[in-house]
Amino acid sequence: MVSTNQTLAERDLSVLWHPCTQMKDHENIPIIPIKKGQGVWLEDIEGNRYLDAISSWWVNLFGHANPHINAALKDQLDTLEQVIFAGFTHEPAIQLAEALVALSPKGLSRCFYADNGSAAVEVALKMSFHYWRNKGQTHKTKFITLENSYHGETLGALAVGNVALYKETYAPLLMDVITVPGPDCYYREPGESWADYSIRRFALMEQVLQRHAETACAVIIEPLVQCAGSMRMYDPIYLKLLRAACDKYNIHLIADEIAVGFGRSGTLFACEQAEISPDFMCLSKGLTGGYLPLSAVLTTDQVYQAFYDDYQNLTAFLHSHSYTGNALACRAGLATLEIFQQQPILENNSQLAAFMAKIAARFNEHPNVAEVRQTGMIVAIELVKNKHTRETYPWQERRGQRVYQYALSKGVLLRPLGNVIYFMPPYIITEEQLLMLVDVAWDGIQQAVKD
Ligand SMILES: *Cc1c(COP(=O)(O)O)cnc(C)c1O
Repeated sequence: MVSTNQTLAERDLSVLWHPCTQMKDHENIPIIPIKKGQGVWLEDIEGNRYLDAISSWWVNLFGHANPHINAALKDQLDTLEQVIFAGFTHEPAIQLAEALVALSPKGLSRCFYADNGSAAVEVALKMSFHYWRNKGQTHKTKFITLENSYHGETLGALAVGNVALYKETYAPLLMDVITVPGPDCYYREPGESWADYSIRRFALMEQVLQRHAETACAVIIEPLVQCAGSMRMYDPIYLKLLRAACDKYNIHLIADEIAVGFGRSGTLFACEQAEISPDFMCLSKGLTGGYLPLSAVLTTDQVYQAFYDDYQNLTAFLHSHSYTGNALACRAGLATLEIFQQQPILENNSQLAAFMAKIAARFNEHPNVAEVRQTGMIVAIELVKNKHTRETYPWQERRGQRVYQYALSKGVLLRPLGNVIYFMPPYIITEEQLLMLVDVAWDGIQQAVKD
């Protein structure tokens, strides 16, 4: 029997349960079975193509079926797929750790692997807490986080996040955290710069750090862009001030670069724009070019040394995942970094980003757009009911969902966050494709704001 989109969709819906989805939606919205990917394009079973404008949930950097990464993986597959990573090691894991240490902000000299972003966040939280404990500072048990932040879906990661949609249901299960009003520049005063607003909002963070210095292990933050929190952005000065204050109050800084790392923010890592080094940096998503699940937590020698002792003293970090340091995933990571090395990716991205800024500017004129904002290779468009008061559409109307469906019908994969439409394309996208993207998004918005 020949498979069609419909036959596969039916089989899927009779057995699968998809992430971040009210499955009942699929009574009306078809699920799309993808047969193959090539560059920025995804192709379904029936040959319809979709431009992957969101890098397949922010993971893909250099396109689907990238020849360089494919070749590396094929070679690795015939060599070693996986080996226990306690007591054993392998070249791809070593080389990737060496490369990450060399590329990451100064002072980050140790690499611990896990297998997804949430797991990396859990590792960083546990390491920070455990560091203070090994140092005899057992009163340090709390984490500080920002309003509107997102750090993943496992219970620890969910607890330090602040997006109500994901968190509220599970609140009774989550550890207590200290939540600080954020620097989200959407809320700056008219005429106020991102930097001025970010500095002004930092005062609220400083108060909290001072008040909780005794009990706080770490502040966890998404550098420059709160991606899952509707792509809200702020100025690097906030990170600079935060680094200094964390030093002053003896609190760790955890930079969650899972979404913004690997060039997305304009620099290889977003922290570079503030010229800071965090105590922990979490990486995943783009780490393998969007091929395989892998994450890494980079930390300092100071942290590492606090765990390094005779076995009998029981100070070791015993956290583990079965697939820690998976050889295929590490090799995909290495191949991804090789592309950064061999081609002027960041330079090209800065031209692409400038082009995106130019062509997305037209959304500023739209009567239902309150803001167009950008950091590097992320452009976000804030759709509202009333441009002047910024009154939002009731969430029940699902305007963003209408943009999603319209875009799909025109061969573009956009996946708005609520009513925020954003572009986060693979770095190999062309100007022509960006123009198509912007046209489809414009028309999608026109459809979505009717009635
Ligand atoms: C996606 C994301 C995570 C979680 O990563 P998963 O691999 O989905 O568990 C954590 N932090 C940030 C900033 C993210 O964007």
